Amino acid sequence: MAAPKLDEFERIARFFAPLAAPEALGLLDDVALIEGPPGRQYVLKTDAIVEGVHFLPEDPADQVAQKLLRVNLSDLAGKSATPLGYLLTTALPRTCDEAWLERFAAGLARDQAEFGIALLGGDTVATPGPVTLSVAAIGTVRAGAAVLRSGAAPGDDVFVSGSLGDGALGLKALQGGLPALSETERAHLVDRYRLPRPRLALGQRLSGFASAMMDISDGLVADLGHLCSASGVGAEVEAARLPLSAAAAAALGAAPELMSAVLAGGDDYELLFTAQPIAAPALARLAAETGVAVTRIGSIVREPLGVQVLDGRGHRITIPVGGYRHF
Ligand code: ADP
Ligand code: MG
Repeated sequence: MAAPKLDEFERIARFFAPLAAPEALGLLDDVALIEGPPGRQYVLKTDAIVEGVHFLPEDPADQVAQKLLRVNLSDLAGKSATPLGYLLTTALPRTCDEAWLERFAAGLARDQAEFGIALLGGDTVATPGPVTLSVAAIGTVRAGAAVLRSGAAPGDDVFVSGSLGDGALGLKALQGGLPALSETERAHLVDRYRLPRPRLALGQRLSGFASAMMDISDGLVADLGHLCSASGVGAEVEAARLPLSAAAAAALGAAPELMSAVLAGGDDYELLFTAQPIAAPALARLAAETGVAVTRIGSIVREPLGVQVLDGRGHRITIPVGGYRHF
């Protein structure tokens, strides 16, 4: 009899976790932390993006390059790290010409300047498949200052940075959806899909305030579920508190069922973190100083485990999709 099919996380747990070094945190966090220069740790992360999965064939090459870097930097932000540099692997079909590469490299140059990083090496191969790009990002953090997924405790509040759902809605807009929106609203959402904003300054400042933290890449409910299981707790989220951009609010006003994109769509690249209620004034100050909104969306509970989303009357909302999974 064939073995049951393993999902993405079961594959990692079964085949890769047994190979992992102690510094890999059991492959249950966003990064590995290894000893660095005196008083610092190196923070290591790799993320790949694939044409047709993470970006569309017609997306501009410079923005593809920026998304590739930024999805990695978002993981460093989620650990309070400061980026240092990156390794780049490109697997390109032969149809990707020099004009594409020139534009791709220009996007990398722009973000190197923006985030103070430089290229450290990589590999260049051809593929018969779609454009496949991988970055391994390296950052540093003060030893012991990285905020892990595993520190949330019952009674903590749950927060997110920025706004949720824009990326997932931007993809829908690019695919011809969201007919009710204005051109400006669509452009805002598409920009959020193509160009994540890694919340590095906020992430760094949250060390010492946040009890647990990660970036949201696979959808709020799925990633909060990962944070909860790493911490051995549950979470209650109030749907009415989820921060929406004006464009996302307009989209949901016209089609309320798009709430599923806010709860479970991918491509947010915002910070998700927990903190004790006493930290609220400090968090408000950090939000003001970094210019990034911080919104309380719910609470950590001892039981039930897992994530519950509640409507305005405290009733549980059923979430149709449980986050993006590759397998
Ligand atoms: P994220 O959403 O932050 O990118 P993932 O959900 O992709 O993280 O991965 C979860 C954890 O599993 C991370 O620690 C990651 O480094 C690890 N991981 C994923 N795939 C592999 C692999 N093929 N080999 C080793 N570790 C992996
Ligand atoms: Mg992550």
